[in-house]
Amino acid sequence: MFDVAIVGGGPAGASCAVFCAGAGLRTLILEREKFPREKVCGDCLNPACWPLLRRLELAEQVRSLPHGKLARVEFIGIGGRRLRVELPAGDEAEIAIKRSLLDQLILDRARALGTTVFESTTVTTLASPDPRTDHWKISAGEQTFRARALVAADGRNSTVARLCGLLPSGGRERIALQTHLPLPPQFGNRVVLEFRPEGYSGQAPVSGDELNLCLVSVPGRMASLRKWAEGRFQISSSHSWRTITPLTRAPISAGQESLFLIGDAARVVEPFTGEGIYYALASAELAAKAISLQRGGGNAGDVAVSYSSAHAQLYHGRLWINRLARAAVLSPRIASAFLGIARFQPSLLRFLTAKIAGTP
Ligand SMILES: Cc1cc2nc3c(=O)[nH]c(=O)nc-3n(C[C@H](O)[C@H](O)[C@H](O)COP(=O)(O)OP(=O)(O)OC[C@H]3O[C@@H](n4cnc5c(N)ncnc54)[C@H](O)[C@@H]3O)c2cc1C
Repeated sequence: MFDVAIVGGGPAGASCAVFCAGAGLRTLILEREKFPREKVCGDCLNPACWPLLRRLELAEQVRSLPHGKLARVEFIGIGGRRLRVELPAGDEAEIAIKRSLLDQLILDRARALGTTVFESTTVTTLASPDPRTDHWKISAGEQTFRARALVAADGRNSTVARLCGLLPSGGRERIALQTHLPLPPQFGNRVVLEFRPEGYSGQAPVSGDELNLCLVSVPGRMASLRKWAEGRFQISSSHSWRTITPLTRAPISAGQESLFLIGDAARVVEPFTGEGIYYALASAELAAKAISLQRGGGNAGDVAVSYSSAHAQLYHGRLWINRLARAAVLSPRIASAFLGIARFQPSLLRFLTAKIAGTP
């Protein structure tokens, strides 16, 4: 019997395990993949992550892994118009780091603190607590696990949310492709957000010799965006890309009785803002506190309500940035026109970038 079972060992699940195991809870992670693994992501670590990485006692180790330093954002409009905005400098600046490295590091820390980790283990069925059994029964193939609290940290297509009837049905959605490539010469310390008629592309150096390349578009126009990227970065047409959808999804109330949704499982943010990992770490910390409270004798219903409200507060005041970013990227022509205006009002773009790349 575990105090808490966490489904998904990405940044949300693994950091929740670090906080739970650190608080003395018997903690289990069930993860579908075998780490290290890559994942569709721009690999950019928002500066707001640093205080959380310090509390995870991982900040120094993250700095010592290969990463790209990001000194500025360069926006490129459809017509090729460029606009540069400087990013905060210093020890806690924005960096880009491969998810194979970051996610493995956090998972290893969770293990070192006593978390039991099962990799290559896909959760397929759940039985929720009932008056006779005050615990969850979680099944992955032939294996069954028991836990007093359950955490859904299994990403935007959360199996836990689906099995609990909480996953909103998706409409027609955009898709993203992602890959790593040799770093083009003289790419520089910048993250590039390039608008195209079909969608947009994000580019960031993840080390001295590798580039992260993401493409975002609607399904019907992705082939054309991909063709553009193949020409631009000399990629073979047989190159294999990672892919994910949806990019937008209605949020789910994060606290249910003895069930805590964290990271993308609870709410997804526009990739363009590069904030998803921050929210994964921050919601993981909130959930771990709530679970400790419940294990200490707190009423499960009250704990769920207060976790939901703390979770909503995390996003409060920042959702407008997301809406703005989404509006911009859903209409790359408007975004390009905005860049034209922002050239004469650079303080506006500087303000928006500082909002995204600053500490919330
Ligand atoms: C195109 C794109 C670009 C992005 N760029 C950035 C960026 O630059 N910076 C940033 O901060 N954020 C970015 N994001 C968002 C970021 O990738 C996510 O917010 C982040 O990965 C969320 O972490 P998570 O731990 O909640 O979920 P995930 O990282 O998705 O981890 C979920 C884990 O659950 C596991 N899992 C799933 N189902 C099961 C199951 N049934 N059983 C067991 N395990 C399961 C998966 O294998 C996975 O390891 C981007 C997203 C996209 C789509």
